[in-house]
Amino acid sequence: MLGVIGTGYLGATHAACMAELGFDVVGVDTDESKVRSLSQGELPFYEPDLPELLAKNVAAGRLRFTTDFNELANADMHFICVGTPQQPGKNAADLSYVKASVAAVAAIAKPGSLLVGKSTVPVGTADALSASLPSHLELAWNPEFLREGFAVEDTLRPNRLVVGVQSDRAENLLKEVYQSLIKDGVPWISADLRTAELVKVAANSFLATKISFINAMAEICDASGGDVTVLAKAIGYDPRIGNRFLQAGIGFGGGCLPKDIRAFMARADELGATQALEFLREIDSINLRARKRVIELVRRDLSEALKSKRIAVLGAAFKPDSDDVRDSPALDIAVQIQAAGADVVVHDPKAIEPARKRFPALNFASSIDEVLKDAEIVLHLTEWKIYREIDPVKAKSLVSKAIIIDGRNALDRNKWIDAGWQFRALGVSDKEA
Ligand code: NAD
Repeated sequence: MLGVIGTGYLGATHAACMAELGFDVVGVDTDESKVRSLSQGELPFYEPDLPELLAKNVAAGRLRFTTDFNELANADMHFICVGTPQQPGKNAADLSYVKASVAAVAAIAKPGSLLVGKSTVPVGTADALSASLPSHLELAWNPEFLREGFAVEDTLRPNRLVVGVQSDRAENLLKEVYQSLIKDGVPWISADLRTAELVKVAANSFLATKISFINAMAEICDASGGDVTVLAKAIGYDPRIGNRFLQAGIGFGGGCLPKDIRAFMARADELGATQALEFLREIDSINLRARKRVIELVRRDLSEALKSKRIAVLGAAFKPDSDDVRDSPALDIAVQIQAAGADVVVHDPKAIEPARKRFPALNFASSIDEVLKDAEIVLHLTEWKIYREIDPVKAKSLVSKAIIIDGRNALDRNKWIDAGWQFRALGVSDKEA
């Protein structure tokens, strides 16, 4: 039997996927309403393919959820999947949920069972937690690399499995759990606890750097008259660079990249290695600057005065195929523009409810036609497929002024220009109809 502690985006996915692999799984969360919904086989958030997997495995009796840690007493392995958010007002991660969940598991876990951390934590956390455990329990770290929007695929067919272990026994137990994935050829990387923790934050730092790199190039293109979309395509053909994550726009957000690079910097400070990660400070500023640059474009087009201007925002989630609005660049821009007095209306195919919960003062539209109606400028901020399918000719008949800012460089520019729109994008010179 496997225990999964914390059943949010990571834990619910991991629990359902482990049940799909044939294990008997118990998920524990302190959030009663989440547990109630999951117990009924209903996913309390949006993630493609996960609802079917959850419902199927709950119905088959292999997967159940509870708020009672005692129900983990028979588990052979306990996956720790709780949140590690940024501490308010600081760069460092808040480890209180990890510490509380490890203590709760340690109090009931049967001797010989293995605790396996999956949450993203600062290097050294696992060593410290390990020292706090009774001698009959052992801790391993197995960082998670899933992408929201592809969480099921990434869990059942990951591009690698990384485990930080303190004994051959722990590694063998983990190999047993993941044996079907290993048989399918998924690379297996065994490391010490510290390296395993570092792999995760290093990977996220690299990805953040790649995004901010192309956004810095977008700034240079804006200053010099170049076109960052052509530049990205051209450098991406070099296999050492690659074309993924090279789409200039309003940058990264979500519950991982921003807080992970900040926590990594905070940990480097503690380790006396501040300089090694100084570049991440710049990566963070480039990222936040991209949001400001979109707002400057809006101000320029609306002659500075935003007061009472009707602005349509396409997208609230931090990325498409997710309803996650944590540190969403789209919502941040919408909120800032509204704070400047504009009449902002936001649309998103899946994230309206989470967005409304976070920012109740924003206005939301339930259809694309409704959000476009009478808009004086349209901002495309989350690259959902349905927005690429908008007919610009019809859209033009709904708005009051046909100006669009493509904050993701994802729309078919020529199609919008041919339909008579003024088209703006970061790193691309203005194109007029
Ligand atoms: P989340 O907020 O969606 O889920 C965390 C869950 O933990 C919540 O349901 C919360 O109620 C529960 N929880 C908190 N304290 C608890 C406790 N003491 N006992 C039991 N449950 C408790 O967060 P998430 O996005 O799933 O992220 C979890 C961790 O996984 C983070 O460290 C994150 O960085 C990492 N991670 C997330 C992703 C992702 O795409 N979301 C990918 C890789 C790694």
